[in-house]
Amino acid sequence: MDNIPKITLNSGVMIPQFGFGVFQIPTEDTAAAVRTALTEGYRHIDTAQMYGNEREVGEGIRQSDVPREEVFITTKLANDRHGYDESITALRESLQRMGTEYVDLYLIHWPNPRADKYVETWRAFEKLAADGHTRSIGVSNFQPAGLDHLAAQTHTTPDVNQIELHPLFQQRELKRYHTEHGIATEAWSPIAQGAVLDDPLITELALRHGRSPAQVILRWHIQLGNIVFPKSSTSKRIKENINIFDFELAADEMAMIAKLDNGTRTGPDPKSFP
Ligand code: NDP
Repeated sequence: MDNIPKITLNSGVMIPQFGFGVFQIPTEDTAAAVRTALTEGYRHIDTAQMYGNEREVGEGIRQSDVPREEVFITTKLANDRHGYDESITALRESLQRMGTEYVDLYLIHWPNPRADKYVETWRAFEKLAADGHTRSIGVSNFQPAGLDHLAAQTHTTPDVNQIELHPLFQQRELKRYHTEHGIATEAWSPIAQGAVLDDPLITELALRHGRSPAQVILRWHIQLGNIVFPKSSTSKRIKENINIFDFELAADEMAMIAKLDNGTRTGPDPKSFP
């Protein structure tokens, strides 16, 4: 699928704007799901140390016919591995589990303000990138205050901030901050874990375009410039979700979806988690 757009990160690394998330896919199903996704044309996998399925992600990639260098792999630092040396060791373990020499993107999964180690962790990330163990580095679940603090204390702007973002929780203010600072926005739980699929507007737009509600929402993300990686354990939906590059939502349809924002999160608030 070379019709998946790529976004150039501030490190110069290019990331496919669409990928596959593997959070909550049972370990025993992960390799097959990743293989299916790659067969269907996905070239970007989003995993994490805390998902417990990095080994199976690596197996799925090897079982596919797709060469490693054609797949963009993201993993994320576990919350209990913050710290300079610890986050370096944690990536080394991830690479061993996945059977790869590098990842394409390494993220601080949560800022973990109570541990207060994300600045030294970020310095380790800079070193890991300089040494080629990861091609790019970023954060997840950061607010402007944490990003400002990182900017004041370190030399590298995160390539991405991966945040909860979907029609019910559109994060306009944080996105504006990202744009001002050249940080790409990755949207986690892009279809709100299914919570927005029954919305009457989404259903109407789906009917109008002859698409599923999930396809309409994923297309909305793409047109907004968000990077998305919906999760599905189902082959049919894995195939359905990537099939969004041959239709377009009109400006008035985008504007109608913009009105669905009601501040509803499906996941934890980074201000109080973990
Ligand atoms: P999603 O918004 O991707 O929703 C996944 C849910 O929607 C599953 O229940 C899935 O069911 C269902 N689904 C998928 N496709 C369809 C479809 N076409 N029609 C109907 N239902 C569908 O939620 P996630 O929370 O999984 O987010 C995606 C990814 O984001 C994660 O896998 C992970 O990589 C990342 N993430 C990152 C976080 C962070 O803190 N950085 C937090 C949460 C997620 P089924 O599997 O049965 O098809």
